[in-house]
Amino acid sequence: MLRQVAEGVSVHESEFCQSNAVVVQGRAGVLLIDAGIYGDEMACLANDLSELGQTVVAGFSTHPHWDHLLWHAGLGAAPRYGTARCAATARDRLSGGVDAVAKAAGIPEQVPLDLLGLITGLPAETAQIPWDGPQVRIVEHQAHAPGHAALLIEERGVLVAGDMLSDVLIPMLDLNAADPIEDYLAALGLIEDVAGDVDVLIPGHGSAGGADQVYARIDQDRAYVHALRDARVPSDPRIGPSAKDGWDWVAGVHEHQLQRLAQRSEHDGTPR
Ligand SMILES: [Zn+2]
Repeated sequence: MLRQVAEGVSVHESEFCQSNAVVVQGRAGVLLIDAGIYGDEMACLANDLSELGQTVVAGFSTHPHWDHLLWHAGLGAAPRYGTARCAATARDRLSGGVDAVAKAAGIPEQVPLDLLGLITGLPAETAQIPWDGPQVRIVEHQAHAPGHAALLIEERGVLVAGDMLSDVLIPMLDLNAADPIEDYLAALGLIEDVAGDVDVLIPGHGSAGGADQVYARIDQDRAYVHALRDARVPSDPRIGPSAKDGWDWVAGVHEHQLQRLAQRSEHDGTPR
């Protein structure tokens, strides 16, 4: 079911990790950001759109993780974009075959894999998604995954945050990067710089938030990353008994990140 969150912007939520597919109304069709997860859900979205007389004229993947790289034949054959780094990373990770990736990542079997990751990288430094609709500014940063992009639809006051600024997921760092902590803090700074006129924030997973949530979630993510950096116990509502129903596994993600960062500093002697 499509739910409107701002003028010309709707969300289709998945059962899987409360993933949000975002539909932006353009002049001759819609832009679809992070299309969805399960086959029947994307078919449902395709059906909803066709009932509204809409076709998908462009797609965009916010980052090269499998749950943001999916597509369904019913959504049509519009060009699907990502940042250059996102597309290159997706291509690289899928080069050993989709089945190997599916197995390694534990992708559920209801997820259709035939169109996984078939995105075109936009040239580096591309400022906007090329399409016929409201300007969608690409705010690229290196935080959660290589070439991660948040999208700002200024005319609509909407920020599509990808896997940042979630109310249910803590910051999940790109632990393969040279300096995941500093990358994440820099990314939050970049998002903060464009957040002034945002009325609606849509995270890749979790609940959309209003204007009051934008800075609150930036602060919350920053506090978490600071705690991780300093190996302090974070006081974060997304971990522990205050975690929302079904999200108790997030505490395990935190433990994993803590361990990996400790191993890194042991290995190369660099500070966290
Ligand atoms: Zn992700």
